[in-house]
Amino acid sequence: MPKTEFWQWYVEESAPTEAHHHAISRVFFEGRSDFQQVSVIETPVFGKMLILDGDTQSSQGDEKIYHETLVHPAMAAARSIEEVLILGGGEGATLREVLRHKGVKRCTMVDIDGLVIDLSKKYLPEWADGAFENPRANVIVGDALAYLREDRGQYGVIISDLTEPLEDSPSNLLFNHDVFADIKARLAPGGVYVLQASTAAWHNASLHCKMARTLRRHYAHVTSFFTHVPAFDTDWAFLACSDEIDLSVLARERIDSYCSQLSGENFFYDAQTHARLFSLPLYLRRMLAAPGATF
Ligand code: SAM
Repeated sequence: MPKTEFWQWYVEESAPTEAHHHAISRVFFEGRSDFQQVSVIETPVFGKMLILDGDTQSSQGDEKIYHETLVHPAMAAARSIEEVLILGGGEGATLREVLRHKGVKRCTMVDIDGLVIDLSKKYLPEWADGAFENPRANVIVGDALAYLREDRGQYGVIISDLTEPLEDSPSNLLFNHDVFADIKARLAPGGVYVLQASTAAWHNASLHCKMARTLRRHYAHVTSFFTHVPAFDTDWAFLACSDEIDLSVLARERIDSYCSQLSGENFFYDAQTHARLFSLPLYLRRMLAAPGATF
């Protein structure tokens, strides 16, 4: 390895005084779309990475940890998986994971940024692994907010794979009571709404807890789960929302049976991993139970 001073660095700040430095071995793309700053780079440890507005979205090395966790617990729990909706999901890896199940008749993905999709097809084809061309995929370039207002479909699973709802992000308007009500109206009976839901790290879990508190007003069960994602350099959290099922007590047999119907091999998720994902440390349970802000 050359000495550190010869590398260029991608520095991801998780707070004004905290950062993870990734050495850059190659830059595939650097520019601005109509909605966000987009970079596609390669790093020696994590391989290719997609970065939006300075935030790592996923890395070649560990994207399966993130995407299998986002998709499979919800799909295993839902009463029906024939119709699935993805909000966001630019790289196509969430779509890939959904379509691995032969019981899915159609998966609609709505991402606002055509440039992110085009760059993912060009530089990150391993992520979608052909999913964009799958006849069961219905890929729409458009604002998920507008889609939710116009659409009258019913989905067994709705997956929110949006960027963090930070002030300047195009996802910002998708995190509030009205939109959560629109999403619930699109869920079929026995359906599950799952979202990537910010970090679960003890020093940085306030956004996650705010999302959970808001969603509890809409669903009987709002269950947090998380895993460490090395490229994010933090514990990453998700929320599963359902009126019927508490995903933290999903039966092992149900998960085994679901996984046996997936094409190819899982990298991360199985019944044992499920138990670990939903086993929350005391500090997080306390933070989630405490009163606080909502959207
Ligand atoms: N893994 C990611 C993370 O950790 O934040 C999220 C992945 S995915 C790349 C996020 C996608 O959300 C992007 O492709 C972005 O274009 C999309 N997005 C943001 N706001 C949106 C909106 N209003 N409607 C549809 N897609 C949106």
